[in-house]
Amino acid sequence: MITRFAPSPTGPLHLGHAYSALCANDLVREMGGQFLLRIEDTDSTRCKPEFTDGIFEDLSWLGLNWPSPRIQSEHYPTYWQAIDQLDAMGLIFPCSCPRREVEATGLGLGPDGPIYPGTCCNKSLKDARPADALRLNLRKAQALLPQVLQYEETGDGTQKTCRFITHDITPQIGAPVLRRRETGDPAYHLACVVDDAVQQVTHVVRGADVAPLTPIHLVLQALLELPTPVYYHHPLITDETGKRLAKISQSKAIATYRAQGVSALEMRRMVGLDM
Ligand code: GLU
Repeated sequence: MITRFAPSPTGPLHLGHAYSALCANDLVREMGGQFLLRIEDTDSTRCKPEFTDGIFEDLSWLGLNWPSPRIQSEHYPTYWQAIDQLDAMGLIFPCSCPRREVEATGLGLGPDGPIYPGTCCNKSLKDARPADALRLNLRKAQALLPQVLQYEETGDGTQKTCRFITHDITPQIGAPVLRRRETGDPAYHLACVVDDAVQQVTHVVRGADVAPLTPIHLVLQALLELPTPVYYHHPLITDETGKRLAKISQSKAIATYRAQGVSALEMRRMVGLDM
């Protein structure tokens, strides 16, 4: 069993992150296996090295350890190889539409943001300008995909098979961005799917907020012929008022509790985990 914790260094880690990392670590502690750390720092406008340092400090303080972490910003060529593979299948198109234009088409909001109307889908990579986004032509990909994609969802001692019909998800997802507009950074879905395979992750432990995006990951795994791990989308930690903790909420940062003298064991209890 191989699990991973894959934070984005866009702010200090909070209690929700502590819960997620501890859940991933507990799973391998119980079953035997390896816990890995991956720094998802592909958003060059928001990620900062000091937040990466903070992640190492917080997780060590929590008592976790991991072999050499995978830093996504050091592996861009690997992600471009995956794009080339998808392009060879005729599934990539460049897109110059700004987000507000996509929003203005009024197709609504899907799990991956405003639903893309397909404006640029007939362009090919030859037409790409450096600032263009690269999108996956999901409508076209449908023909190459199994009609039903499925994965195993595990968690508190239960395991169930989740299925979805590719035709049904396409209209809600649109055409996922795989390389971001302007910055040219790889997008989360692409880097995450490639790295879960590179790191041979068998069990992805992450928050329930990411579950609606998992179909995109299954589509990419099917197209790139990568294995699909087992998923555990854990419940989210909320504050006293039931509101989800955002990374920006400094008051709930792990570092703040640490500075106040809270111990790692107390933090385990705070997030509802037994010793
Ligand atoms: N970097 C993502 C986040 O912090 C990770 C999601 C995942 O575990 O796949 O939300």
